[in-house]
Amino acid sequence: MQSLAFAYIFKPNPSNPACNEAIFMMKNCTTCGAQTREYSEFPSPHDPSVKIVRCFSCRRISLPYVCPSTGKAGP
Ligand SMILES: [Zn+2]
Repeated sequence: MQSLAFAYIFKPNPSNPACNEAIFMMKNCTTCGAQTREYSEFPSPHDPSVKIVRCFSCRRISLPYVCPSTGKAGP
């Protein structure tokens, strides 16, 4: 089961602490390589030490991914 992760960090603004800026952490999609802030991240079923990152568009069209560790494709 994949879950869509929205990871973000707060970057304090030293000159104006009241105006903190939320910055979404960008990740590179394992399938298409695009930088994305709307992704799902999960351990590879082939190698649990490897995290698979899938962007929204790859998830939507169900593109297969290739495990970076083992080279095996997954759904
Ligand atoms: Zn992608």
